[in-house]
Amino acid sequence: MKKIQIKSKVDNSYFVIVDHDIRTTLHKSIHIGHYSKIGVITDKNVIKSWKSYINKELAPDFIITVEPGEKHKNINTLKFLWDSLIKEKCDKSTLLLIVGGGVIGDMAALAASTYLRGVDFIHIPTTIISQVDSSMGGKTAVNFSGGKNIVGLYSQPKLVLINSHFLSTLPDREFVSGFAEVIKHGLIADKNYYDFCTSQHPLKFSKKELNEIIARSCQIKIKILNKDILQQNERKLVLFGHTIGQAIEAASLESSTPLLHGEAISIGMVAETLLSIKKFSLPSKELAELEKRLSKSGLPIRTNLEAKKIEKKLAFDKKITNGEIPWTLLKDMGEGVYNVFLDREQIIEAIRYVCL
Ligand code: NAD
Repeated sequence: MKKIQIKSKVDNSYFVIVDHDIRTTLHKSIHIGHYSKIGVITDKNVIKSWKSYINKELAPDFIITVEPGEKHKNINTLKFLWDSLIKEKCDKSTLLLIVGGGVIGDMAALAASTYLRGVDFIHIPTTIISQVDSSMGGKTAVNFSGGKNIVGLYSQPKLVLINSHFLSTLPDREFVSGFAEVIKHGLIADKNYYDFCTSQHPLKFSKKELNEIIARSCQIKIKILNKDILQQNERKLVLFGHTIGQAIEAASLESSTPLLHGEAISIGMVAETLLSIKKFSLPSKELAELEKRLSKSGLPIRTNLEAKKIEKKLAFDKKITNGEIPWTLLKDMGEGVYNVFLDREQIIEAIRYVCL
C-alpha cells in the first residue's frame, strides 16, 4: 500500500495515509493518550454498515450520528453537532474522528474547527469523492440560503486515513458519481491518467486498480495543495467543472430529482470543456470524446434543469471578485488553466448546451 505525505504550507503539516490497517496507522501517527476523549462523527448510512468496525478499530468514547445526504449539509445539522459536543462534555483536548463522505467531512470539520475555537480532528473518508478529494486540503462548509458551501473556513485535519475497504458498501450510484472527481484529476493534470480512469466502467476496476486510482488522485491533489493551500492560484485547478457543476448541483437540490455531487460535476465538466474550446485551441473533437467517456462511465452529460435556474445559482459563486468569476478551464486534455475570464454570452451558451 502506498503512503503519501502532504505538507501544508500554512498549518501544521499532516499526513494522508492510504492503508488498510486504520487502527495501527492511527496509533502510530497520533499520540492518542494526549487526548481526554475520542469521539466519532458519522452519518446514519455509514453507521449501518460500519458500527462494529468503528467500535472495534477506533474504540471511541462516543459516537454522534447525523442524517445522511447533501440536504442535511446545513446550519441545523451544524447546530446539532455543536449541541452534541456540549452534551458529550467535550473539552479542548477532544479528538474527533470524522468517518464518512464529503458531506459529513465538510460539515463535521466545520463543527470541530469552530467548537471551543477548534478541536483536533482526523478524516477517515468512506466514499470515492472523500477519499480522492474532499478530505484533503482543509475546506470545511455547510450550504446556506440556497447556495453551496456558503458558510465555512479553511481548517486542516491532523491526519487523513484512507482505506478503500469502506467502498465495498458504497451504493453503485455513489461509487460512479465519485469517478467524476477522479476523471477531473486526469483532465486537469495528467492525460494518461484520464485515459486510464475512463478506460472502463468504474465498477469494473479491480481492487488493485482502484487502490492505484485512489493513490494517483491523492498524489495529484496533494501536489496542487502543496503549492497553494489557500486557493490563491494553483489550487483553483481543482475547480474545473465545479463552477457550472455546483450551480447545477444547487439548482437540482431544489428539484424532485436531485443530482449527486459528482453527477453535477460531470455535467459541469462538459459545459466547461465547451468553454475551453471557445477560449483556447482545444480541438472540438475532445468534447465529443469526453462526453462518450463520461457516458461510458455511467455519468450524466446533460440536465433537465432550466438554464435560467442554473444561471441564477451562478450568482452565488464563491469565487466572484469584482463581479467576475475567475474560471478554471482546459488548455489541453490533461492541462488545466485558472483565472480565465469569460463573456456572459459564452457562459450562457455553455449552460444552454448541457440543458435538455
Ligand atoms: P456523501 O457524504 O453524501 O456520501 C454519499 C452517500 O453515501 C451518503 O448517503 C452517505 O451516507 C453514504 N455513504 C458514505 N460512505 C458510505 C459507505 N462506505 N458505505 C455506504 N454508504 C456510504 O457525499 P460524497 O459524494 O462523499 O461528497 C459530496 C460532498 O463533498 C459535497 O457536499 C461536496 O460539496 C463535498 N466536496 C468537498 C470538497 C472539499 O474540498 N472539501 C471537495 C469535493 C466535494
